[in-house]
Amino acid sequence: MAPGGSKYQDIRNPRSADSDYGIAPESAEFTNSPISAAITGGKHGAGSNSVVHELLECPVCMDPMHPPIQQCPNGHTLCVKCKSKVHVCPICRHELGNIRCLALEKISESIELPCRYQIYGCQDIFTYHMSLLHEQNCKFRPYNCPYARSECAVTGDIQHLIAHLKEDHKVDMHDGCTFNHVFVESNPQEVENAAWELPIFNCFGHQFCLHFEAFNLGLAPVYMAFLLFMGNEDDAKRYSYSLEVGGFGRKLTWQGVPRSLRDSHKTVRDSLDGLIIQRNIALYFSGGVMNELELEVVGRIWRDPL
Ligand SMILES: [Zn+2]
Ligand SMILES: [Zn+2]
Ligand SMILES: [Zn+2]
Ligand SMILES: [Zn+2]
Repeated sequence: MAPGGSKYQDIRNPRSADSDYGIAPESAEFTNSPISAAITGGKHGAGSNSVVHELLECPVCMDPMHPPIQQCPNGHTLCVKCKSKVHVCPICRHELGNIRCLALEKISESIELPCRYQIYGCQDIFTYHMSLLHEQNCKFRPYNCPYARSECAVTGDIQHLIAHLKEDHKVDMHDGCTFNHVFVESNPQEVENAAWELPIFNCFGHQFCLHFEAFNLGLAPVYMAFLLFMGNEDDAKRYSYSLEVGGFGRKLTWQGVPRSLRDSHKTVRDSLDGLIIQRNIALYFSGGVMNELELEVVGRIWRDPL
């Protein structure tokens, strides 16, 4: 299962959709570096960040190149990893010697770049090497769409994702910190690895998604319910929630801390950080009819004192 952190779309080249955020396209100027100033002044001035990234991108693996940067006798560059795998230049087919591209290495050491998530609000500027480390953990990096019923590749900030969930996935939005939501499945005995519609609760000025999924835990078919917080990990920890299912004098409850949207629903599911209900119990709670699930999940969200 792919870790959540590796799925972010490359947004080096801002899409036209960025105007949706009401943020002007990149306009950073790097007056403290003669090289980047020269690049900014060149014909690619509109996107100096992306031009520098392009220069330092290995044409074979597309990863950013770091010293020792290699080149062919004709000056085509490639990264040291790829050089060990190919014998001729991927561009001109000339035999590769052992030539380093010191000029590009110097550029990579001397330039400073704004974070690539500047369009999302990050104001940080880093050296080339540090910016790559920073961008993996930048708190402004876009989130993945949490919709679990189908693979969705949409990324963006929280406001963008909320609009997208409403418009494209038609999710239900509810105001309030208490909820009861009924999950229905007409043929539960055949359900494996399924996810239900994703109700979203607006509360404390934030949004929380209630996930409900079916999967096999070992050999036992189970349902699992948990809450995802639409925001970062630090903010998620300030809240708690409880979930309850029951019937006929029995009750299962779960109290937990909502997980940040930074964790994919698969990550949360695999860590079993939620209310787990054996299928037979769930069917019992839903009225004892073994061929229909109609399970009411009652929940509450509260803010923990700081
Ligand atoms: Zn490479
Ligand atoms: Zn070449
Ligand atoms: Zn950043
Ligand atoms: Zn989506």
